[in-house]
Amino acid sequence: MKKTAKIPKNKNIQESFEDYGDNHTMSTLETLVSEKSLNISDEEKISVIEGHFKEIMTTLGLDLSDDSLKGTPHRVAKMYVKEAFVGLKNDEKPKISLFDNKYEYGKMLVEKNISFHSCCEHHFLPIYGKVHIAYISSGKVIGLSKLHRIVNYFSRRPQVQERLTVQIFNELRKVLQTDDVALFMDAFHMCVSSRGIEDVTSSTVTVEAGGVFEKSDKWNQFATIVNDLE
Ligand SMILES: [Zn+2]
Repeated sequence: MKKTAKIPKNKNIQESFEDYGDNHTMSTLETLVSEKSLNISDEEKISVIEGHFKEIMTTLGLDLSDDSLKGTPHRVAKMYVKEAFVGLKNDEKPKISLFDNKYEYGKMLVEKNISFHSCCEHHFLPIYGKVHIAYISSGKVIGLSKLHRIVNYFSRRPQVQERLTVQIFNELRKVLQTDDVALFMDAFHMCVSSRGIEDVTSSTVTVEAGGVFEKSDKWNQFATIVNDLE
């Protein structure tokens, strides 16, 4: 199920790229990762990115002999590979084991205020905020921290918020073996607050709901719980 955004014919490529960024659109649901990158070690990636980041800094006019700046290309490269974009690596995907629902709790479970940090793929600036997740057990339950780990894994990639929402939602449905999953994400985009329109107060909300949560009473129950927290 791949959707490809079309570039309007009357626009040149440069204008279209700008549109992608400012309209915060996305072209695919999956994060496309090249085969080639899978065969490159972390150390190699860090070394290549370090070289390029050094170029960026010197091109901007910075003097890298300064003690404070000297280590920056390496620091940034290491941060990209080991922290900020660690969710691009398949082997970092959290391994989930489920447990029997011994208490036979059959109502919704809400894990609220899961904080996350991601990165806007159009501007490489932070997206950060909270996710609230609800699910109803299909007979199995998940360790609560695993919900956080799933959010964290998909966040640690260049993203758009809509895709991040759907990727987390789909993974939850898969691991929890049920469609009865709901998700509410409220996030700040630094590409909106620190540049462009420069709005520091707005936040962006995305939601997903499956199974019983598509019905208004269950969704309202979830939304009420989420709103009570504010
Ligand atoms: Zn952006």
